[in-house]
Amino acid sequence: MREEREAPHDGVPASALFEDGVGLSYDDFILLPGYIDFHASEVSLETQLTRGIRLKRPLVSAPMDTVSESDMAIGLALQGGIGILHYNNTIEEQAAMVRRVKRFENGFISDPVALSPDHRVTDVDHIKRTLGFSGIPITEDGTLQSRLVGIVTNRDIDFEKDRTRLLREVMTTDLVTAPKGVTLSEANKILKRSKKGKLPVIDDEGRLAALVSRNDLVKNKDFPEASKDSRKQLLAGAAVSTREEERGRIDSVVAAGADVLVIDAAQGHSRFEIDTVRYIKERYPHVEVIAGNIVSLGQCDALIRAGADGLRIGMGPGSICITQNMMAVGRAQASAVYRCARYAREHGVPVVADGGIRGIGHIAKALAIGACTVMLGSLLAGTAESPGEYLYENGVRVKQYRGMASLEAMSAGGGKRYLVEGDGIQVPQGVAGTVVDKGSLTDYIPYLAKGVSQAFQDMGVRSVTEAHEALYSGRLRFERRTAAAQEEGSVHSLVSYREPRWGIR
Ligand code: GDP
Ligand code: GDP
Ligand code: 5GP
Repeated sequence: MREEREAPHDGVPASALFEDGVGLSYDDFILLPGYIDFHASEVSLETQLTRGIRLKRPLVSAPMDTVSESDMAIGLALQGGIGILHYNNTIEEQAAMVRRVKRFENGFISDPVALSPDHRVTDVDHIKRTLGFSGIPITEDGTLQSRLVGIVTNRDIDFEKDRTRLLREVMTTDLVTAPKGVTLSEANKILKRSKKGKLPVIDDEGRLAALVSRNDLVKNKDFPEASKDSRKQLLAGAAVSTREEERGRIDSVVAAGADVLVIDAAQGHSRFEIDTVRYIKERYPHVEVIAGNIVSLGQCDALIRAGADGLRIGMGPGSICITQNMMAVGRAQASAVYRCARYAREHGVPVVADGGIRGIGHIAKALAIGACTVMLGSLLAGTAESPGEYLYENGVRVKQYRGMASLEAMSAGGGKRYLVEGDGIQVPQGVAGTVVDKGSLTDYIPYLAKGVSQAFQDMGVRSVTEAHEALYSGRLRFERRTAAAQEEGSVHSLVSYREPRWGIR
């Protein structure tokens, strides 16, 4: 039962906290506790990434070359977030990453890789090596235009010593199939009943129309929160630049299946950015566009009017970032998030709080002051799914993490978000360093999500939607923290202590 009586007011509403003229960061304020009449497990973190994309968990990976490649995007989408693939690479490399994410899980595989009876076991080995699967339908001529005659799976060939044998000699011909037009639920039932690994779907003439894989049912069971499109493929995001000569990148990642494009510019209020938003929305109205980075209302207004479906908020709060010191522009992150989120909400546009998030408390605060999702760089760097090898630094297992405007990343092609011109002089806006090993997303993301749910419980809100309603109605109450209050709220007075595995924020 909810408490009916109006509690005496204490603290201030966010509108009073974020008054004009003073920039606040996440550590500068605290929320006063709310009333709890529910379990933390009942808290829903479902949220909008953009106007058109909903996620079960509000977590987005930063498009950086030490954070987001396909392993990160797959791992995060399986856990209900989404990865934004970086673009410090060739167009082909980035498009291949998008394809890997989109192929990882399927409902109906509508374009399955097929072979003919005259192919050899080595051809299946090659597909396994390059694409990762070995359940191959066999059609008369190896294309989807001819009749299905058999299937080769791992079990047909795993003990085969002679890899040059023809597939007609090893394929299984006694097939369980389903007719074209079958629903995915029906197909799944047939697949479960048949106890086979694959279910080919065939049309009236016996031609292969699609394939359903048992492993996808397992993935669906193991990752019920996964972020998927209507075809049950994982959602994938891709970063693109505002440069006209990079328009081909936009075309390629969209063709590869990207669901959302993040226009990656350090200062998003530019003619180039507005033109890029328009270019994408005109050509690909079905693709969602997140524009940024921005921190002020004039910037929000310009990008919303250009047609952005989401905004990315943050200039300078990133852990690897030196923009505010070098460029003399930016904004304290909590103020930027609160102001932009409130403005964008009036236009139905969700915002991503990007940069400066140091742990669970910061994620919860960003959401509580209006962000719909958070974008994480340093928090996701150092996981098993981030690019790069582990190394040891003073006995600590670490991975490299670098700003995309560090000299190191720029010399590898990463200056595209900073309007860097080719005159040979580079002014860095980021640094390169290392972060501690965090293990796999499989444990880490549920940990972050549970922590945020518990924080929401303490605030007395059951969902991101309710948090935002409570924010704007004034039910969420805030207080400024002095430097002493911040110190008091951190570990103190100990000679020594051991930090828990994933830090203390
Ligand atoms: P829901 O996914 O269970 O919420 O329901 P849907 O209507 O979206 O899914 C229809 C059917 O597809 C159900 O039987 C689901 O279990 C199944 N399904 C969901 N995701 C996948 C997937 O990735 N692959 C396959 N083969 N089936 C899936
Ligand atoms: P297999 O048994 O060796 O084919 O591999 P698994 O069943 O373990 O995994 C196949 C995974 O790859 C599933 O998640 C499929 O959705 C996915 N996949 C994507 N495209 C294809 C394809 O063309 N053929 C097959 N067999 N799987 C595909
Ligand atoms: P973090 O989560 O590590 O605090 O911040 C990640 C964010 O920092 C990224 O999403 C991006 O917005 C920003 N960023 C990435 N590289 C650089 C850089 O070199 N300079 C600046 N100013 N910001 C960066």
